[in-house]
Amino acid sequence: MKKVKAFLGLCMLSIIIGGRVQAKELNLPETEIVDVTNHVYTYMEMECDLVQLKEQYKDKMACIPIGASLDSRTVWEVVIGNPQAPKAIFIEAAVHGREWMNSWMLMKQIEELMKNWETPIVEGVELGDIFEQCAVYIVPMVNPDGVTISQCGIDAIQNELLRANLYQMKGASKPARWKANAAGVDINRNFMTGWGNKRCVKAPASEFYEGIFSFSEPETMAIANAFAQRKFDIAISYHSMEGAIYWNIGQSGELLDKTAALAVEVKQVTGYSYGEQSPLNGLDYNWMMIGQNTPTVLIETGTVACPLPYSQWQEIWIRNKDLIKQLAIIYATK
Ligand SMILES: [Zn+2]
Repeated sequence: MKKVKAFLGLCMLSIIIGGRVQAKELNLPETEIVDVTNHVYTYMEMECDLVQLKEQYKDKMACIPIGASLDSRTVWEVVIGNPQAPKAIFIEAAVHGREWMNSWMLMKQIEELMKNWETPIVEGVELGDIFEQCAVYIVPMVNPDGVTISQCGIDAIQNELLRANLYQMKGASKPARWKANAAGVDINRNFMTGWGNKRCVKAPASEFYEGIFSFSEPETMAIANAFAQRKFDIAISYHSMEGAIYWNIGQSGELLDKTAALAVEVKQVTGYSYGEQSPLNGLDYNWMMIGQNTPTVLIETGTVACPLPYSQWQEIWIRNKDLIKQLAIIYATK
């Protein structure tokens, strides 16, 4: 309904401002698909937006299911451009449930890239041509069950057994702060590289529990599936809330040089400062970097406690809205 209203509003505006209808306005105006007004951006809304984006932009993008959560939500991967492109970038967000504002930001960015497909980059080259050379693979919501718990509470989990177990876990009284999946495993402790190095929680909980073995969770396996499908030149993992870029985990040689270069590129676009070197701890970017030999930067958006309030949206959007475009331009020709 909101989108219909926005569409009618646009029509009215062109009549009021113009007084006369110009040729461009005779075409139906593009309606906004991803709504960025103040509300809670849910998994269901994201799925609905993916359907509409695919319908509107057809061959420019693909939506691929790379896994399913324990509570039967699909983990979606969006491929922008040519899947056979010689270069490829991987980007993910919402590995932690309460960090769902990053899913929203990536979804809006996907729409902006689609809308600007014909924008000239240099003479004779449009943005769409860039994605022929460098495809971008985006998993906007790695942990849809965790997002759902953070946004709607434990009752929103459909599976009765999962729900009953969740209520027994540490952190159940504050579901908005939920980071883990619906089994109480922190996906960002469940990757193989450095798994179990830092055990601070012994049982399933809202955060920090690493699981009974690495890659025990379907959300972790979804990311492994994405990396099994093709080699990525670089990867970006979005988290929140330190407003910083993490890139140094003690890697060496060419991997260190390439990651340092990527960190500079990310800093130039986003303006975030560098975080300190961090130890291997089963984190997503530990595995992408060391396990997959892929230069990876972890970006922490936001500056206050998660879930981030809407007042953080504007700054996050401004800092990150050009990142995919700029990285694709850089790596298409590297
Ligand atoms: Zn996180």
